[in-house]
Amino acid sequence: MTELLETYAPIAGAEEIERIRQLSQHLRGARVVHVNATRVGGGVAEILSKLVPLKKELGLEVHWEVIKGDRDFFHCTKSIHNALHGTHIDISSEMLKHYEETNRRNAEELQPLLREADFVFIHDPQPAMIQRFIPERKGKWIWRCHIDISHPYRPVWKYLRESLLSYDASVFHIADFAHSLPHLQYVIPPSIDPLSEKNIDLPEEEIQSVADRFGLDLERPMIIQVSRFDRLKDPIGVIHAYRLVKTFVPSLQLVLAGGIAADDPEGEAVFEEVTIAAGNDPDIHLLLLPPDAHRTINALQRMAEIVLQKSIREGFGLTVTEAMWKGRPVVGGNTGGIRLQVINHHTGFLVDTPEGAALRVRYLLRHPNIREEMGRKGRRFVRENFLITRQLREYLTLMLILLHGDMERLEIGG
Ligand code: UDP
Repeated sequence: MTELLETYAPIAGAEEIERIRQLSQHLRGARVVHVNATRVGGGVAEILSKLVPLKKELGLEVHWEVIKGDRDFFHCTKSIHNALHGTHIDISSEMLKHYEETNRRNAEELQPLLREADFVFIHDPQPAMIQRFIPERKGKWIWRCHIDISHPYRPVWKYLRESLLSYDASVFHIADFAHSLPHLQYVIPPSIDPLSEKNIDLPEEEIQSVADRFGLDLERPMIIQVSRFDRLKDPIGVIHAYRLVKTFVPSLQLVLAGGIAADDPEGEAVFEEVTIAAGNDPDIHLLLLPPDAHRTINALQRMAEIVLQKSIREGFGLTVTEAMWKGRPVVGGNTGGIRLQVINHHTGFLVDTPEGAALRVRYLLRHPNIREEMGRKGRRFVRENFLITRQLREYLTLMLILLHGDMERLEIGG
């Protein structure tokens, strides 16, 4: 019955699998709907594509719905996203009207499903207002926030908050992101799927063939950042750091690999900026990858000595988890969810500036033994904290708490 789940036992442990099974018994047949803004590209889609089949296998009736919107809508939601990350952006009332109207239309379309669902997980701000247009709700509504909203631009947060007041719970990656809301807030960090194409071990020949395809030299040192082309990921800062190191390590190669998510209208402009910043340096490789290039990204992360994630703001940074799982030390921006993963001097280094990143990259390039030790610790840290099985268990627990919160004790097992 639970064959897929079983395949995680060798990595996550048989006990974890058993716990998940026991929890899920109390949720058999529960109707769960996840709503987000894109089926591919970015961390939310990455996680849902793994969680949904697992929950289904456990006997829950799970739907994953993606809202529809035009370019103006996604421009508006990108501005909301940036404002929640702290950028001072005033959004015109016309734009907000369009945002509300788009949510209303999506609510209308999804109404039969959402009205009857036992649990509705609304991911991020894009569909947050849908709830307002579903007055007859049967189930529990959860706002699942994937953004670092610790220091939001107040007017935009105030606006969005209005739509969140009637949710039953919200979930954040780390406690720092929680806010004053009139319902319970939970902390559930994201996770990676160790058995996915993105994360499974790869044969050496495959890594070599990806290197050949992109003209990368495995005999020379390489650093990489995998990210959507987004200013908050600071790709220009990464190029700056690379240039600083390159004066000392002339053989260094930099790979900036990424794609443009369907719900991110700024991606093309940022890619242009990055292309200009890279100039004609043959050792900077800008790779614009299709959204399903999971094995390619896996190979690229494995061939680099060091993985960078020099974000200026970061909800979590699945790319950090992916790199650590592959035993790579991470030089990461000292922000948001990266801080939860990069334990300074243990699984990598936290940095605030391109100069800081360059210093740490140089140090790590000079010390292969430290790279190896950090990589080992990183993999262990991911195994203990950031596997999909842990996240699945916590989602099931959350649903049970919301159903039986007033019970003193829920008997599990037997
Ligand atoms: N990713 C991908 N292709 C790309 C860029 C990113 O598959 O071109 C994946 C990446 O491997 C990771 C996720 O998308 O699994 C990005 O998640 P993260 O939390 O790092 O950032 P987000 O895009 O959600 O801000």
